[in-house]
Amino acid sequence: MHNRDQLLDHLSIGVVVLDSFLEIEFWNKWMEEHSLLDRSEVLGKPIYDLFPSLIHKEFTKKARESFRNGTPAFFTNKANQYLFPFPSSRSLLSNKLSNMQQTVILSPLKDKMGETVRLLVSVFDITDWITNQHQLMESKEKLEKLSQIDELTGIQNRRSLMEKLKMELCIHARKKRPLALAMIDIDHFKKINDTYGHQCGDTVLIKMANLFAESLRGYDTLGRYGGEEFVIILPEATPEEAQRICERIRQNVEKKVFYYEKETIQMTISIGVAFSDAHSFPEAEELLKKADDSLYQAKNNGRNQVVVFVEEG
Ligand code: GH3
Ligand code: MG
Ligand code: MG
Repeated sequence: MHNRDQLLDHLSIGVVVLDSFLEIEFWNKWMEEHSLLDRSEVLGKPIYDLFPSLIHKEFTKKARESFRNGTPAFFTNKANQYLFPFPSSRSLLSNKLSNMQQTVILSPLKDKMGETVRLLVSVFDITDWITNQHQLMESKEKLEKLSQIDELTGIQNRRSLMEKLKMELCIHARKKRPLALAMIDIDHFKKINDTYGHQCGDTVLIKMANLFAESLRGYDTLGRYGGEEFVIILPEATPEEAQRICERIRQNVEKKVFYYEKETIQMTISIGVAFSDAHSFPEAEELLKKADDSLYQAKNNGRNQVVVFVEEG
């Protein structure tokens, strides 16, 4: 064995040299350790005889192209998780990746005339990197989910509500379908905090959010807009439908008895509804402002009622 070969045996990547028949000329120690095939067993054999799955992964096709054109070829982990089916040393840690994840590069080795006479195959174990990448993606998804949820009530928070509203307004404009927006504010909520304590107020907010959620259609979006204010996006709802849904919610709250420790509490809500017909394209803020104006009217008219915004003039 040459000194050069000894050097290649110390590398922590797989090194294989193939001749123009794709027969193995060199197989380093790393390849021996991971394939459990001794150098003496593999030398002179076509690589696809030892690893028949290489044919399906276009290895032989790309290798022949490399020989013909003298250009390198790459096997990314995205296209093929691995070329050589080696067990992963990480398989015990993450049961998802049982095979070593690889990136493989084919480099043409040329003679003095510039002819490609051999191919150098480098096999990189990127299992650790892929595992980290998976964990990172999972954490990112969890974080994204968390950042859309209101911590107290578990429904959408204001940020996510605004995103959803903007998205629904785009669909509304494209499909030319109506859309309604309801803003709900609990009547005299401050009294609950003042009489029974903040904890009780929190419990009422949670129960109230559940009660709203029960009254909605599958494609409506409920979110907490602020302290004791909630917003419901009602896609495709006509003013009559929106009025009916909101009136049902108002009555459900009026009938509901909330229990907190030994107290029984009854509450009412006021709702302002804004509406966009099939031919208008309001901005999110504009629609929210209209719903808020209607809510203000509902409060002024004595609370515990639904007011639908009507255009003046
Ligand atoms: P109105 O009928 O005019 O809406 O009267 P209100 O008392 O409901 O309105 P106001 O805006 O005066 O008070 C809202 C109260 O909601 C004040 C605030 O302390 C309380 N609040 C806001 N967020 C929370 C929360 O997360 N938990 C609790 N317990 N209270 C909250
Ligand atoms: Mg309020
Ligand atoms: Mg209030």
